[in-house]
Amino acid sequence: MKSLQEGFMVVHRYWIPLFVVLSCFVASLDASAGDSDPLYRACVGQCEKTGCVGQRCFPHCKFSSDGVSVDGPWYMQEPLYLRWKQWDCQSDCRYNCMVERENQREAAGDGPVKYHGKWPFERVYGIQEPASVVFSALNLAMHFHGWLSFFILLYYKLPLKQDKKGYYEFATLWHIYGLLSLNSWFWSVVFHSRDVDLTEKLDYSSAVALLGYSLILTILRSFNVRDEASRVMVSAPLLAFVTTHILYLNFYKLDYGINSLLYLHFLIVCVEDTVLVGWNMKVCVVMAVTQLLIWGIWAGVTQHPSRWKLWVVVFGGGLAMLLEIYDFSPIYGYLDAHAIWHATTIPLTYIWWSFIRDDAEFEATNLLKKTK
Ligand SMILES: [Zn+2]
Repeated sequence: MKSLQEGFMVVHRYWIPLFVVLSCFVASLDASAGDSDPLYRACVGQCEKTGCVGQRCFPHCKFSSDGVSVDGPWYMQEPLYLRWKQWDCQSDCRYNCMVERENQREAAGDGPVKYHGKWPFERVYGIQEPASVVFSALNLAMHFHGWLSFFILLYYKLPLKQDKKGYYEFATLWHIYGLLSLNSWFWSVVFHSRDVDLTEKLDYSSAVALLGYSLILTILRSFNVRDEASRVMVSAPLLAFVTTHILYLNFYKLDYGINSLLYLHFLIVCVEDTVLVGWNMKVCVVMAVTQLLIWGIWAGVTQHPSRWKLWVVVFGGGLAMLLEIYDFSPIYGYLDAHAIWHATTIPLTYIWWSFIRDDAEFEATNLLKKTK
């Protein structure tokens, strides 16, 4: 027995580091075909020193003379605008070196490659991914329209109780959903306009919060959980998990400072990139697929008059998710899979809020019939 255990220990001792190194190797091959190119790296390195790429120079890059240290968390950096300047400098350098490299690659007959996990997009007025920005803004508008018409339906069109409250028992839950959606699409607009560490964290944190909350809402609505105690019992563990997950995504990096050894630092960056991104992806996919399945099954068994709208959203949502998996380089330098994914959710959002309004009307009239 003991030798078997020892055997496992030996296997673990060798396999885990091997796995880490291998997965880092795969990750670096996968995520950075463009930015691992030595010519690109030399260009960025040169640019961050001189502030110029070829004939083009950037005013943001004149911060090194101030002697501001770049170590430590962002909130320790005083003043903050210098940090922004630095982000702008890095962003300008990366962008212009990428454009230069892509032109060279095109002249040599090579196709586009990804840089820092993203396709080479053409900027419009300094906006990094114009198509994704436009579609995110339209999603934001669609959610605002949906939520507003839901609000008007509840309080101005449907009958109210004596205490001025509506008959629909899921109203508050949908209001919170509306707010979280508006918040999430707002940060999506910001992130696709300017991709820096802070905007990226705000974007995916709000997306995870929305996804987690809508899972809770899915369970509460489809299982018809009406009393307060059961609602708390269902949502508490999920809320705790989602909160922990968001904190983990955002503050895991703070452990960096402790590891002064260079190789340890490298290992952590690497583990973080592969495990954290992979883990977040798994969490998001599981939460999304679970709610699509629950709504799909519910649409199949319920007698709800608007169940066809659920079918459309579930099928459309499932197909749209494939776009996130099937990745392709941007058409004409603007339209990539991610942007098209954001575009498909615009009509789906319209149908979705229309289902929510129908549900409020259906439930309210049913309850009203019972009370009479
Ligand atoms: Zn996006």
